[in-house]
Amino acid sequence: MDIQYDNDVINKIASHFENIIELLGEDVTREGLKKTPLRAAKALYYATNGYRQNPTEVMHQAIFEYAGSKMVIVKDIEFYSFCEHHILPFFGRISIGYIPNGNMIGLSKLARVVDVFARRLQVQERLTTEVCREIYNTLSANGVIVVCNAQHLCMKMRGVEKQDSSTTTIEYMGDFEKDVDLRNQFFESIKI
Ligand SMILES: [Zn+2]
Repeated sequence: MDIQYDNDVINKIASHFENIIELLGEDVTREGLKKTPLRAAKALYYATNGYRQNPTEVMHQAIFEYAGSKMVIVKDIEFYSFCEHHILPFFGRISIGYIPNGNMIGLSKLARVVDVFARRLQVQERLTTEVCREIYNTLSANGVIVVCNAQHLCMKMRGVEKQDSSTTTIEYMGDFEKDVDLRNQFFESIKI
């Protein structure tokens, strides 16, 4: 994805990275680290580009009329995010199901919406809810369900150091809230 870097902001972030690297005990003038503050600033800016995108606008680029009323499922959309408590990555997969109500969304836009919310400082619970609510509201869908499974580096490389744990969060709205069979149909489908 092409993004526009704001040079003024990038330079400011880079100078903070320079301070952090020094404070950690490194020599920022060392050959291998010379361009690291700038590279790190750009990487962080890229990975948090969701702040500079509007999810509703992204969705409106590809909403089409559709008469169908049965569940549409997109499974295993991978995402990368940062936990807002430690600014360490968490990453995993999101599966989305929705019940159309007169229209449909281009499938790649569902993945884009996930990115818009993932590329911020986040907690997994809120990421799951925000993706669900955005699709439910913008598509006026009859129902939306979102399941997110993720691994958190703040669990793996610090603190409790649990290497194999993963976290699952679930959110649903509309028909999925009322109808347990519909929820089970979704869960069955994403097992395949
Ligand atoms: Zn964390």
